[in-house]
Amino acid sequence: MAKRDYYDILGLDRTCDEGEIKKAYRKMAMQFHPDRNPGDSEAEARFKEAAEAYEVLRDTQKRRLYDQYGHEGLSSSGFHGFSDVSDIFSSFGDLFEDFFGFGGRGRSSTRSRRGADLRQTLTIDFTEAAFGTSKDLEVERSEPCETCSGSGAKPGTSAARCTHCGGTGQLRHAQGFFTIATVCAYCRGTGKVIEQACKTCRGQGVVQKRKRLSVKVPRGVDSGLRLRLPGEGDPSSGGGPPGDLYIDIEVQPHELFERQGEDLVLRLPISFVQAALGAEVEIPTLEQPTMLTIPRGTQSGEVVRVPGQGFYGLRGNSRGELLVQLLVKTPTRLTKRQEELLVEFAQEGGENPDKKKSLLDKTLDFFEKSIH
Ligand SMILES: [Zn+2]
Ligand SMILES: [Zn+2]
Repeated sequence: MAKRDYYDILGLDRTCDEGEIKKAYRKMAMQFHPDRNPGDSEAEARFKEAAEAYEVLRDTQKRRLYDQYGHEGLSSSGFHGFSDVSDIFSSFGDLFEDFFGFGGRGRSSTRSRRGADLRQTLTIDFTEAAFGTSKDLEVERSEPCETCSGSGAKPGTSAARCTHCGGTGQLRHAQGFFTIATVCAYCRGTGKVIEQACKTCRGQGVVQKRKRLSVKVPRGVDSGLRLRLPGEGDPSSGGGPPGDLYIDIEVQPHELFERQGEDLVLRLPISFVQAALGAEVEIPTLEQPTMLTIPRGTQSGEVVRVPGQGFYGLRGNSRGELLVQLLVKTPTRLTKRQEELLVEFAQEGGENPDKKKSLLDKTLDFFEKSIH
């Protein structure tokens, strides 16, 4: 979907001032707030859209970039809206307090940072991609340190309250209509200062550990697809929600089949006798081998379709076809007898293989014969 114009989203004209932007955003945020529209994805989309527009237009530099170069100018400067609603609350949490008289979402966790997202690649084979699979995965991620129970302080000592932020982890600045909160730089948002660090985790409160996870891979996946495991990323250092784990799927190619969307292509060599006379042959599929009828008079390259034997789609129950491309092989080693038979075969068809005809004559003959 094409991105809408930020001024249109907030119903403003391009000459609007800061006050008008705030007012317009406030109105939109009130109307589409997720707490007022539970389960309404349309409202959520409008809410996100409005937040993004506000984020850009309230910032003089971003607004100037947008005015001059549009969405492209912003994205090439590294700006990318909000990935989800909780992002909006962590950016504008205090603004919502001002707007609604209650917290962003009535929870204090909007104050603490989410843990980091993790990424990992998972390689599966072709058949697993077709039918779905369950895979065990080892993920290296931070876990709370057992020695200090995650406090980061040497056992027997405890962390002191940060005097700069009074233990809240946030510094607040009044700025006219708004209260802006920033993460306290002294305690990095934890609200605590460690005087004697735990030796196991060097005061970090977390250690790197490998964890085994079982991942369900749905059928129909393809290379480049990314699965998201919510909450399986790094834990948050400030008591916020953990990050997510993203799994990049890589599907290994099959030695026989090639995937084309939901269809499978199988290239099947056949003899020219099978091509001429027709035949029943056994062919492999992703499941059980099945019989395929080669029609009489098949030309090399022709495709026979086998419905219902393709690849599964990622959604729903649709399944593509197996496209069997028949490739006629010309024999290269002939016995004396076979050669005689072929010469006889040619003479029977009015062709004289001994006569040295030019290639052009033969080509013309071929077209002559195909027409009649
Ligand atoms: Zn520790
Ligand atoms: Zn602090």
